[in-house]
Amino acid sequence: MGGIRSVFVLNTGSSSVKFRVVDPESGAVGAEGLVERIGEPGSQTPDHRAAIEGILSGLDRGAIDAVGHRIVHGGDRFVQATLIDDDVERGIEQLSALAPLHNPPGLLGIRAARAALPELPQVAVFDTAFHAGMPAAARSYAIDAGVAAEHGIRRYGFHGTSYRIVSERAAEFLGRPLDELRLIVLHLGNGASATAIAGGRSIDTSMGMTPLEGLVMGTRSGDLDPAVLLYLQRNAAMTVDDVDELLNRRSGLLGLSGRGDMREVIAAAEGGEAAAELAFGVYVHRLHHYIGAYLAILGGADALVFTAGVGENSAAVRAAALEGLAGLGLQVDAAANAAPDRGPRRISPAGAPVDVLVIPTDEELQIARETAGVLAQGDLRP
Ligand code: ADP
Repeated sequence: MGGIRSVFVLNTGSSSVKFRVVDPESGAVGAEGLVERIGEPGSQTPDHRAAIEGILSGLDRGAIDAVGHRIVHGGDRFVQATLIDDDVERGIEQLSALAPLHNPPGLLGIRAARAALPELPQVAVFDTAFHAGMPAAARSYAIDAGVAAEHGIRRYGFHGTSYRIVSERAAEFLGRPLDELRLIVLHLGNGASATAIAGGRSIDTSMGMTPLEGLVMGTRSGDLDPAVLLYLQRNAAMTVDDVDELLNRRSGLLGLSGRGDMREVIAAAEGGEAAAELAFGVYVHRLHHYIGAYLAILGGADALVFTAGVGENSAAVRAAALEGLAGLGLQVDAAANAAPDRGPRRISPAGAPVDVLVIPTDEELQIARETAGVLAQGDLRP
């Protein structure tokens, strides 16, 4: 891929920088790590620039060919991975209004890395890009069309980098062309979403204009009657910021049970804690809701795929998510599901109508590949 052998991949959060130096073709990892508590009191790392300088001081800078950034929201403008220049940087900044929790940290990462490595090409890889071609019926909210158009109110979808690599890996595992497959992929991490994929394209996804819609998450509510927001503001003396904080940070598993980590929820539920049992129940109910919807939207599925932290590691969630769905062709083999394997694997019984798979995601590798892909198109201006 145009001689790009080593990509410095950055996933920048508001107070953290996750990095990996990786060969986009072989996937070989040169270095990886995480800097946390950036800018917090008592931290050695005052800002993102210092974090990136600190990371680079431990690396062979000269061996890095390019930088790849994870950017959450690409809006309508960025529908594929894009070489960063001043104009692109401004474009990402303008999208911060749509993704106030997610884009500003990514932008800090871009600014810090461009300052530290001005000689290298840098590429932004967007979580929304995979969903850019979603059909209009799945993309549109049923609100006044003029208001929607004026404010960019539509469904964009997220976790696209993960969906891309996981759908390719699922096709490889099945030994079938991605073009022919109808997949339901459940990306269940701290943030969680579901996507219906036909022929490698996103047909529908559970996250919407922001990553708040859809499944129950660690601290986010997912789907909710929008009138709840109005009610809380009118009747509970909550401000816009209060509601934002409630739905993004104090809801989901945490809101229901006081625990935002699925491992803790499961342990507490097994110990008979009613709130944890309810949290698990609501989480699974919402999964059922989307699995049923996507079977209908796809007209049936060839495979259902679990990925990300919860999806890859929790046999209990996988078993519960598919319980009672044998009539829809979805079955789990208890022994295969419980096996402590880590790689791509099938957990449905032999001969089942729908293959149920566990496929590990690798967003960092996919960002490196897309970065190399953009640079292979020729334009290397930093
Ligand atoms: P992120 O969305 O931050 O990338 P990950 O995909 O790494 O998150 O997933 C993190 C989540 O995975 C955590 O909330 C954790 O509870 C969950 N998780 C990891 N291992 C297990 C497990 N064995 N059982 C249940 N949940 C797990």
